[in-house]
Amino acid sequence: MAGTAGGYVYQTIDDSRSGESGQPNQSAQVDLMTHPDWCEAEFCSDTEHRSTPIIIDPVTLGLYAEDATSEKIMVEIRCRASIVPPRVAYAVGRALVQLGKYANKNGNGDGRDG
Ligand SMILES: [Zn+2]
Repeated sequence: MAGTAGGYVYQTIDDSRSGESGQPNQSAQVDLMTHPDWCEAEFCSDTEHRSTPIIIDPVTLGLYAEDATSEKIMVEIRCRASIVPPRVAYAVGRALVQLGKYANKNGNGDGRDG
């Protein structure tokens, strides 16, 4: 919880993998970012922090925060269907509770359970 990005390896700034243009000094820009503990470099972008996604096909869940307000942890839900089997609904529900609890306790939620 030192608030630094020490030890954090950002893997997508090699120009071979960069798909974005118009960013004159990418490495310096990225090095200035402080990533939350839950952020995963593979899924983090220049402006948005993301955790490793929980994939319960066709639903994908994860933690999300904008870099400018990284203390405000949100839960991202992406879904490719509106009808899912019971097991998916059950698993998604459990995962949502876990993500919601984490975001609530570590972000700027009300800090209460449930
Ligand atoms: Zn990040």
